[in-house]
Amino acid sequence: MVAMDTANKLNVLDVEFLSVSMQEALSLIEQVIASGDKQCVSFINADCLNISCKDKEYHQILNSQDFVLPDGAGINIACRLVGERLVANLNGTDLMPELWETSPAKGYRFFLLGAAPGVTSRMKVKLEETYPGIKVVGEQHGYFDRETESDAVIEKINASKPNVLLVAFGAPAQEKWIYQNKDKIDTNLLVGVGGLFDFYSGDKKRAPMWMRKSGLEWMYRLYLEPGRLWRRYIVGNPLFIYRVFKWRGAERSST
Ligand code: UDP
Repeated sequence: MVAMDTANKLNVLDVEFLSVSMQEALSLIEQVIASGDKQCVSFINADCLNISCKDKEYHQILNSQDFVLPDGAGINIACRLVGERLVANLNGTDLMPELWETSPAKGYRFFLLGAAPGVTSRMKVKLEETYPGIKVVGEQHGYFDRETESDAVIEKINASKPNVLLVAFGAPAQEKWIYQNKDKIDTNLLVGVGGLFDFYSGDKKRAPMWMRKSGLEWMYRLYLEPGRLWRRYIVGNPLFIYRVFKWRGAERSST
């Protein structure tokens, strides 16, 4: 077992997550792969925590995992509001390339599951160009029927023997699918990666670096997809801050 209990943990809105540096997160991930253990990894942002306030199943799944990583400016602000300091913002779009970098030497085998048809093939080509020797051993788009076709998809995954399964259905669908199916999937690491495939394949543009560094990536995503994302950000961000204030007040009065 990889000792995750020694790592620094924080709690916002009753969800625990690791407050570690990028290097520490990578080292934990590499220890899991080396140990042959099975671990699920989730990234949580403000929107995820808003969802988990209303979706008990998602909330329980997050708290049943050792490996929950903070993603985005919203979590950083929430930590400050509750008097904690987050070591680093570890979104999957920044963390995975660090893992891919070491993968050719370590021989990790990746399976890409999710996003629209065609996206994973474009992503595989780009990964193989950028990290020569990387092993992308299988891929499957995310628009299959999760009720009736999951077993066939799992057979395909198991046949390709990956160490790392990246699942990009968006939260909370990816976390629920991973949780429900993890016992049948032969792999070490199951990671919910949200929009990573769309960004990495080049299908969606990522915010310029200055916006990412200033915690404004959400604004750029809103600018690109206002119809789909206005509720998540325009309604969700203030709601999240309100919930954190309320939760902090309740925590203080109960101690
Ligand atoms: N997606 C999928 N199957 C579905 C619904 C969504 O594979 O049934 C994919 C979608 O194509 C996109 C990803 O899930 O690639 C979710 O992206 P989003 O930007 O919503 O994720 P976020 O990073 O914001 O959680």
